[in-house]
Amino acid sequence: MTASARLLIVGPQGSGKGTQGVRIAESYGIPVVSTGDIFRANIKEGTALGQQVTAILDKGDLVPDELTSEIVRDRLSQEDAANGFLLDGYPRNTAQVEHLDAFLEGRGEALDAVILLDVPREESIARLALRAAEQGRSDDTDEAIAHRLDIYENETAPIIEVYSARGIVDRIDGVGSLEEITERIAAALSARGLRSAASAA
Ligand code: AMP
Repeated sequence: MTASARLLIVGPQGSGKGTQGVRIAESYGIPVVSTGDIFRANIKEGTALGQQVTAILDKGDLVPDELTSEIVRDRLSQEDAANGFLLDGYPRNTAQVEHLDAFLEGRGEALDAVILLDVPREESIARLALRAAEQGRSDDTDEAIAHRLDIYENETAPIIEVYSARGIVDRIDGVGSLEEITERIAAALSARGLRSAASAA
């Protein structure tokens, strides 16, 4: 039996969702689809898309919904995402939820679970400041960080209500060690009957 899981991980910037997303995706044998990573890779490579979005990312604004959704549809259409995927950073507002719904419905699919990493705002800001010092990301300036957290609270948090109404949200305490948090997520997913690649083998 192969593992299959269609997952979304949501949380404020600095919640550790990128790190946890990779760990969970690995255990399920599914690819991580991170829109932020896709944009940053394109900026680094100097592609047309990269040139189009570089100023937007630097300011901490959102890339237009249609463009972002098209990129995600292309990525999810690749073969490695046929059995599942873990979305990180998309959808980021309710318009993008509608785009994703339409795409998945067209394939007879739906998200199985939404992992919400709960981290207090002060903790997120402290972790982002640390990442800024370590990685030097151009959008980790104080101004862009505050702007991104505001966008999260105003535009992204509402998507949690949409998914909660569908009964697919698992709220996970995001404060603790890496291992502890991964275990909490794994336990929540397995309680939904989502079996990881290791347990399905
Ligand atoms: P992230 O790595 O998820 O924090 O994303 C970094 C930046 O990429 C964001 O601040 C946005 O500028 C852009 N971005 C990532 N995902 C999306 C999305 N779903 N919609 C619009 N813009 C996005």
